Amino acid sequence: MNQFLQNYLIAIVVFLLMLIFLLMGAMIFILFKLLNKPKNEVVAEIPTEKPVLKVSPEKLKLVEEPIVEKYYCIHHKEAPSVGSCLICEEVFCVDCLVDHESMHFCKEHFRTYANFKWKQITDTRTTPDTPEDGLYIYNFKRDLWLNKTIPSFVMTHYKINIENDYIESFIQLNVREDDVDKLILELEKYKALD
Ligand SMILES: [Zn+2]
Ligand SMILES: [Zn+2]
Repeated sequence: MNQFLQNYLIAIVVFLLMLIFLLMGAMIFILFKLLNKPKNEVVAEIPTEKPVLKVSPEKLKLVEEPIVEKYYCIHHKEAPSVGSCLICEEVFCVDCLVDHESMHFCKEHFRTYANFKWKQITDTRTTPDTPEDGLYIYNFKRDLWLNKTIPSFVMTHYKINIENDYIESFIQLNVREDDVDKLILELEKYKALD
């Protein structure tokens, strides 16, 4: 009877000890997890967040600035642009852009357009196979404006070639009548350099 009680007590003690071990194991496991988790998060936060924050303001500025210039009127910084002037190629809002016979000018260059007689000096054909053939005309026009403030504008005339099923375009550079002779020569030189 005594032995039975002893065995019984031993069994209870062993059971309690096992329970304590299990609980301790569980606590250690939970503690280990709790201690490890924040560590991992901190380690992960430092390399990912900080460099992103460091780089992004500069990057955002670089990305934002041309967009602001490109899509907002150069006279009204809050007004979205609706198109660009054929002569200066700046973008303008609906109040600043003049629509004339499906051509667009800023107010200043609409006056330029209206005050002079214009003559078309090129009719350069490009096709889908040779899209770069007229590129030198656009570059010439841009150089004229940026370097010499000589106004000119490019019109593109499209023709659908039904037989071969492709679109031809004709790049037409228009210059002031007084500039015609001089600019025809300059354009020839420019094309030769190109
Ligand atoms: Zn303009
Ligand atoms: Zn405007």
